[in-house]
Amino acid sequence: MKGVFINQANGTFPPVGVVQHADGLLLTCNCDSPPGKLCEHQALVLGAITRRDELGIFFNNKLRHEKLKHSAYDYGLENEPDLDRYFKLDYQRKIISVSPVSTSLMPVTKESLSGLNDLITPTVHQPVKDDERTVCVVIKQHKYYQYLFIESVLTAQTTKEGKIKNPMAPVNPLDLIWETEDNNRLKFYTGINKFQNHLNSKRTEADIKALRAIVKNTPGYPFYYHDNAISENITATSVVPLWLCFRMM
Ligand SMILES: [Zn+2]
Repeated sequence: MKGVFINQANGTFPPVGVVQHADGLLLTCNCDSPPGKLCEHQALVLGAITRRDELGIFFNNKLRHEKLKHSAYDYGLENEPDLDRYFKLDYQRKIISVSPVSTSLMPVTKESLSGLNDLITPTVHQPVKDDERTVCVVIKQHKYYQYLFIESVLTAQTTKEGKIKNPMAPVNPLDLIWETEDNNRLKFYTGINKFQNHLNSKRTEADIKALRAIVKNTPGYPFYYHDNAISENITATSVVPLWLCFRMM
């Protein structure tokens, strides 16, 4: 280690050099004092180094090693004998800070790991979810044709007993597709969509497949049956819980 000390408050104070050697410190000064003796400038600098840890740390190996070791824990390097290889000290405004010599050295802390995680995992924009609300599926018979179709997918609050509460808000099942990569869920949502737009009374092979995917209910949503006799509108009182069971046809 070596350093040059100046006195900012005193313009006539000559720069004093301090160099650390294995066997001690070498101080140099450009003043006119006789050589071989410690001049007043060197004495002042030496006094400051010994008194003030933030200056002495640069020349006191033990002190510096302790300080670096403290920072080295975060890097898993606390047992390295020569920490000067990995870390450097900075002195700014009377404060010492430790930083790694190489910028590729990364601390393994909660903060750094979460920062790294953010960097490598793409940000997933989760739709705003209200924990209080659940998605449910309401099935009804078509008003004019006697076939089953999915009236709508809704979010609603539910009671502890599983009864849904008003208000109920419609959800487009195709919007839910983007939240999943699961094949069965994808089939479920597209199946629901198919039955929402079911205008063909003739049952096709694809209908059966879609129905199977719906009944499989991979997302595990509660199903309700809309009772037209109670109300034409879908409300909490006009739907009853439904348990689906599906036989291979
Ligand atoms: Zn001097």
